[in-house]
Amino acid sequence: GPGAPLRAEAVIDLDAVRANAARVGEIAAASGAAVMAVVKADAYGHGAVECARAAQQGGAAWLGTALPEEALELRAAGLTGPILAWLHTVGGPWEALIAADIDVTAYAPWALEEITAAAQRLGTPARVQLKADTGLGRGGTQPHDWLELVELAAKAEAAGHVKITGVWSHFACADEPGHPSIRAQLDAFGQALAVADQAGLRPEVRHMANSPATLTLPEAHFDMVRPGLALYGLSPLPDVTPADLGLRPAMTLRGRIALVKSVPAGHGVSYGHIYHTERDTALALIPLGYADGLPRNSSNIGEALVGGRRRRVAGRMAMDHFVVDLGDPAAVADVRAGDEVVVFGPGDHGEPTADDWARATGTLNYEIVTRIGPRVPRVYV
Ligand code: PLP
Repeated sequence: GPGAPLRAEAVIDLDAVRANAARVGEIAAASGAAVMAVVKADAYGHGAVECARAAQQGGAAWLGTALPEEALELRAAGLTGPILAWLHTVGGPWEALIAADIDVTAYAPWALEEITAAAQRLGTPARVQLKADTGLGRGGTQPHDWLELVELAAKAEAAGHVKITGVWSHFACADEPGHPSIRAQLDAFGQALAVADQAGLRPEVRHMANSPATLTLPEAHFDMVRPGLALYGLSPLPDVTPADLGLRPAMTLRGRIALVKSVPAGHGVSYGHIYHTERDTALALIPLGYADGLPRNSSNIGEALVGGRRRRVAGRMAMDHFVVDLGDPAAVADVRAGDEVVVFGPGDHGEPTADDWARATGTLNYEIVTRIGPRVPRVYV
């Protein structure tokens, strides 16, 4: 792999992404389901194009994105195979999507109308998947409006403007196995599928399972599972580690110490002086901050591996840097500017994990990796 970064970088282990895709593929295959690799939001911060390729190498048959432009980016990069985009807004780039052979999602009549008009202009039928709200209460069509959407879709299909390639939905509480809403959503999805079937729709793929449902609920696999988080080697389940699931975290956030200096006892550290040194102490300046995506509320609680040990963030996390207290200067004389710091990684060299950062700052591992910003170069190994 590459040498230590000049400032900081996110090292992305594409072998891990491949292996994680193969791992979820093996779980899905047990119920006869394929895998759609969810690579929205730049593959949760890991790099969409590279991770999409790695997931395909690991056996993923489909790619999924939220935004149309994310799907178009994959095609522009030369990725082949079916792609689904699901978060559309009025006036979306329908013609470009149809021309790029990207499946689009309709969750309301307005979308179906816009898609049909674009397909007519282009003279090419659009590949459309219908999204049901089976209980999430976010995107998707409610049961009382479902028949209307399905009938519109059947009409557009009969006219040759669209091909209904899929019917799908999304869980609210799949990360809480046994939650009563899971059973209710499965029932509602069964009803939505029956209505579509009665209207003559014959979708290629019916799908519902995000990572937690993929890992815990074979009944929810249908024709395809739609994992995101698990591909990046993180666990979607509380108190279950990636290793428990046969997954390996793919992102390591590392940097180099920018400065080591000694300060006297009682010295305030960083903005607001919410930390004071207890003794003559060595401080190390780490050149990563909230502009890079580290949560500001990690002030005084986040940890990083510095000089071979885990050390706390001392004082406020700033926009571009944070400080760690190395303790007795004599004991850390060998820690120098330029030394490597690991903020989080798989955890097998003593570094914190994305889960540790999430727990410390009251958020999810999803958010920790996704918010690592564009100022941090991704390096693929
Ligand atoms: N399907 C849809 C519609 C999503 O929005 C997401 C992400 O939130 C996923 C699948 C993947 O979810 P997870 O990362 O929990 O696997």
